[in-house]
Amino acid sequence: MRIELAKHAGYCFGVRDAVQLALESARKYGTVYMLGDIVHNEVVVQQLAESGVRVVKKLEDAKSAPLLFRAHGTQVDVWNSARQQGLTILDGTCPLVSKIHSEVRELAAEGRRVVIVGDHGHDEVVGIASQVPDPVVVSSPEEAEKLPRMRRCGVVSQSTQMLANVIAVLNVLYRKVVDLRFINTICFPTRLNQEEIVELARENDVVIIVGSFSSANTKRLTSIAQSLNPRSYQVAKAEDLQPEWFTGAESVGVSAGASTPDDTIFAVVERIRSISETQPVAAG
Ligand code: SF4
Repeated sequence: MRIELAKHAGYCFGVRDAVQLALESARKYGTVYMLGDIVHNEVVVQQLAESGVRVVKKLEDAKSAPLLFRAHGTQVDVWNSARQQGLTILDGTCPLVSKIHSEVRELAAEGRRVVIVGDHGHDEVVGIASQVPDPVVVSSPEEAEKLPRMRRCGVVSQSTQMLANVIAVLNVLYRKVVDLRFINTICFPTRLNQEEIVELARENDVVIIVGSFSSANTKRLTSIAQSLNPRSYQVAKAEDLQPEWFTGAESVGVSAGASTPDDTIFAVVERIRSISETQPVAAG
């Protein structure tokens, strides 16, 4: 059985850098605090905890050691309070998320109502929304239909959105907004990952997507793959693989969400390899 691993599977550079910063800082300071998990992946969170990275719920609990702000950005009022409290801040914000922050501020400065295409309550979306007064978050074209008519809008998206969803929302907004400016803020690692999963799903008998079920971008990759290839499955770890998924398969494509560590991906690939060795050779 041929195994094809997507070139851009796994950590995007933003997450890789933030995890690296957390580990280095924990080594340097002994303890580092974070408001919430650094990525939506239980294995990474556990590894970081063992290295001295502590997750806290509020700033008040982070007084005795530096506070690390995560890759997907932090709300403006949290930044301000941390500064006012004199906390040592380690900024792990991905530069592509910071760019979305400056884009929305610019759109608002042009007198536009900012519309963010993204998941309600997602930390990155909350951080983007905090940059401007009175933004609107829209997760689907159905939600966009419910918006009132508007004169001037500026539209951006969460960095990990699916392009098809953003376009569907825009199609609705173009009917409702007189003067609309759209900035495509889907980040390039996400675009590459989404393009690759389409090819993997078309070209392979089976597709495996590796990542936590709490990771929105992993779930998006899974839903793209499943829409193109019914033999697509998401697993959080190697042990989740079911040998019967591979019956008669000659090729398997493997991809992973932006928060999945390399170790987990390689363990999945290894287990697929060992399952394939026990599979009967496909007839014909
Ligand atoms: S998904 Fe994109 S924007 Fe988000 S951390 Fe990774 S590279 Fe940065």
